Amino acid sequence: MISSFELEKLPQGYYKQIGTVLQRRDSSGEGQSLLLFLRDMGPMWVSAPASKTKCRFGGAIEPLTWAEFDLYQSPARLYLQGAEVKEDFISLRSSALKLKSALKLYKRLSKTLMVGHESNNILTLLWSSMLLLKENCPVDLVEYRFTWRLLKETGLAPSLNLCVNCGSKLDSGAKWTNDGLICASCYGACKCDLDAKELRSLRFAALLSHDKFIEWSVSQEKSSLYTDELKKLVTFFTDMD
Ligand SMILES: [Zn+2]
Repeated sequence: MISSFELEKLPQGYYKQIGTVLQRRDSSGEGQSLLLFLRDMGPMWVSAPASKTKCRFGGAIEPLTWAEFDLYQSPARLYLQGAEVKEDFISLRSSALKLKSALKLYKRLSKTLMVGHESNNILTLLWSSMLLLKENCPVDLVEYRFTWRLLKETGLAPSLNLCVNCGSKLDSGAKWTNDGLICASCYGACKCDLDAKELRSLRFAALLSHDKFIEWSVSQEKSSLYTDELKKLVTFFTDMD
């Protein structure tokens, strides 16, 4: 959850940082408040003053856009002074499916990240996921991968390799519990939720490197596996929502 809890103000001065617009709020008359997700600074609320906003910042303050932002911290607040677009991901906007998927990733981060906390690994994860969508990787796979990796960064990801109950390797099959996946000897006579092949696919989707994932994911047959698993993964965020 975004909160300004214990948020310390930056020292007064000018800053320049790469990042993206996570959220935008119109505050009537005063212009816009932007939640920028910035390298080395994490998410920060920034004021984009009203009168000149549109011509000054153009597309750079559209959600999903990545830009280099010029900022000024006054004694009162952080202001946006200028921005240079680096990547607008405009191609995602021509596909409702991809656009929706990208917006879902942004929304998830708005709920998960803490304002003012450096989160460079997660910024890199977002950037990489946006590129995967742009590269036409299946959206359900990208969302699953993003979600598992985000859980990993926050220390909540269920293991895809080891039984959460006894610690043995998950190989022949696995079953979901509230705590994570359990192995065949722990679930006993029950039916497994994931067979060996599905477990392997889930590991590939989560763990392959960026380039290998692109190659592998486009060859995957359509299946409900990743959307089903995504629903399970989202429950691991529950405590934080
Ligand atoms: Zn076990």
